[in-house]
Parts: sequence; structure tokens; C-alpha cells
Amino acid sequence: MTKNAKSGSEEHGAIECGNVFSVADDHPLPGYLPPEDIGSDTPRVFYARAGHPAVWALESTLAALEGAETAVCAASGMSVISQTMFALLSAGDTLLYSRWAYPNTVDFFEQHLARLGVRVVATDSSDPICVARDMEACRPKVFFFEPLGNPSLTFSNPADIAQLCTASGIISVADNSLLSPALLRPLEAGIDIVLHSLTKIISGCGEAMAGVATGRAELINPIARVRWSMGGVLAPQVASKVAESVKTLPLRAARASASALRVAQALSTDHRVARVVYPLLPDYPWRDEFCMACEAGGSVVTFFHAAGTAGVQEMARRAGAIRFGPGFGKSVTTCNGGAAMERYYGQPPGFVRVSVGLEDADEIIAELGRTLGSGV
Ligand code: PLP
Repeated sequence: MTKNAKSGSEEHGAIECGNVFSVADDHPLPGYLPPEDIGSDTPRVFYARAGHPAVWALESTLAALEGAETAVCAASGMSVISQTMFALLSAGDTLLYSRWAYPNTVDFFEQHLARLGVRVVATDSSDPICVARDMEACRPKVFFFEPLGNPSLTFSNPADIAQLCTASGIISVADNSLLSPALLRPLEAGIDIVLHSLTKIISGCGEAMAGVATGRAELINPIARVRWSMGGVLAPQVASKVAESVKTLPLRAARASASALRVAQALSTDHRVARVVYPLLPDYPWRDEFCMACEAGGSVVTFFHAAGTAGVQEMARRAGAIRFGPGFGKSVTTCNGGAAMERYYGQPPGFVRVSVGLEDADEIIAELGRTLGSGV
């Protein structure tokens, strides 16, 4: 048995042996560890699928960052979303969800939760009147939304949603992957559970895949219990990697946001671009509300190429330093668009999502300008 200092064992007083960990009898274990998994001998022995020192260290850090009582991490964003819904919902319950949510999340709701007997209903989470009407009509147990929707960048105000949910006893769940706790902390507005795909700007380099749910222990511990049954715990190596990245999150989020605003402004004046969407641009429909709630605009800008899908295809062919590919929140700038993306995201022709990285803003703007092509 060796001390596993790198994975956070030191802090948690744990001793590691393969995927079995033990801690001294007087060591406080997280509240979510299933009692069956804790040996009665001294030191207590448990199996890593239920949690391990590296993931506890990351969970403590992320809970502090969100201002949450506790947190639970999973192997991906989708893993934490599905575990959260399994913990909260049973057959016969209703889930009201935002039509602006990430399509894979919507697919999970419509294909899998619905098959298991959960009624799933979509609403326009950006419009509190519409949300109130749909809550009244379908009496959901859970409300799910993304404060900044991927990829439409529609803003749904956590304060409005928290107020409506609290008044009706509905559990509110926000997926804040696009903004991160560096820019918006929905728990402070009264949201019950905040989720993130840690694969995005929180890990930041495009090398780790992970997810987290944060909130009150009474809501989060049952998610950890589901994780123990279903699998999907975050691997120790990945937990350590994400924990390192979290230390630079505020710096990276501030720099990427500042550059993203400059990219959005530059694209707005380019004749090859039909329309730009970014929360801090003057024509963004929720600009004032967004500025009240968030510390900066985030690293994602979307636009529509004036030459439609063909223009985006030309961009992908011309791509050099700025690569075309999925994902966002990496330290390098990336673009995503084209016919398949338009279909998947239900976006009009010419749609491009730019994830602005940490390079020099002038260089990003120049390279995007070169990549945009002739524009006809
Ligand atoms: N939530 C949002 C808003 C996303 O954009 C994504 C992925 O793109 C996910 C969740 C899923 O995260 P992961 O890819 O880590 O499973």
C-alpha cells in the first residue's frame, strides 16, 4: 500500500491499493458513500466506484467554487445529467425542460426518460410567462434548463426560473457548461442543482472528459448513490487533471471572454457575415438581464455566414490555425459548422459556432478573417 499524494489522498487521509481505498476509522467520509461499501474493520475499506480520494478532492474544490454544500463528479457531462435525472425522477413524474438545451440532452430526455415512463415536456425557458403557463399546465417535478443555451446562446434567467420553481415546489436544475462558475453561479440565484460538463472550459485544454452536479447534500447525495449503482465515476487520473485546470479557470474565462467580445465585434462589421450572436452585442435580445447576472460574456460566439452552408464548407476547407471540430471551451480557438451541424443543432444555413481560446485576440480575428474566404 502506498500513499497516493497526487490524487488527493494526503488531504483525505486515504491509503490506496489498486482500486480499493482505505481510510483511518476517524476519517470523515463523504456523506454519499453507501454504508454497505464501508468495511467495519480499521481502517475502513471501500471500492473506488463509490468514490475515491482524487474525486473527493475535486468535488470539494468545485463545491467551493459554486458556493454549494457538496458536489458529485461523473465521467462526462452526459453521465452526470443522466445520473441526476435517474436520482430525481420516477415513472409517472413529469420533467419540464428548455427547448434551448443541448440536443444530446434533449435526446436523452425524449428517447430514454420517456421510454421509462417519465413524461417529458418542452418549454421556452427564456420567457418566464411561457414557463409559468407550462408549469401550471403540466405540474412537473423537475425543471431543466441551460442559462446560456448551446448553441443558440439564448439566455434563460436563473433568478426568474428559481422564483417560479420555488413558488411551485419544483426542483430546478441548471446546466451551466457554457458560462462556468467563473461567470455565473445559479445556486446564488436560488437554483437547486447546477451541473457542468467539465469537458468544456472548466478543464479547458480539451484533454479531459468529466461532469459535475453541485447543490445541497439532500439532493446531491442521491445522485452519488445512483453513480455507485450505475457506474460512471470519474477516473482518479482525470480528476487530478481537472483539479489542476480549475486553478486557472478565472484567468482563462476572463481572457477568453474579453477576446470573444472583440471577435464578435469584428465579425459584426464583416460583409461576409450575415448575423452575429453574442450576449454583449447591442442587438442581443437579453443583453440587460444577461449583464446583470453574469460577470462577462463567455467564450462562445455564433454567426451566420453570408454565403450559407457553402460558405461554411469553404471555411472548413480553408481552416488552418483555427480547426473545425466539436466541443468548446478549449485553450485554442475552434470552429464548428456545416450541413451536419446545422441538422444536429436545428440551425439555419451558414451557422458557425466559434469557441474563442487564449491566443492573441488580434491573431484570432486575422485568422478568422482569412478563413471566411470570399464570402460569395
Ligand atoms: N451540456 C452541454 C451544454 C454541452 O454542450 C455538452 C456537450 O457538448 C454536454 C452537456 C455534455 O457534456 P459531455 O460531452 O462532457 O458529456
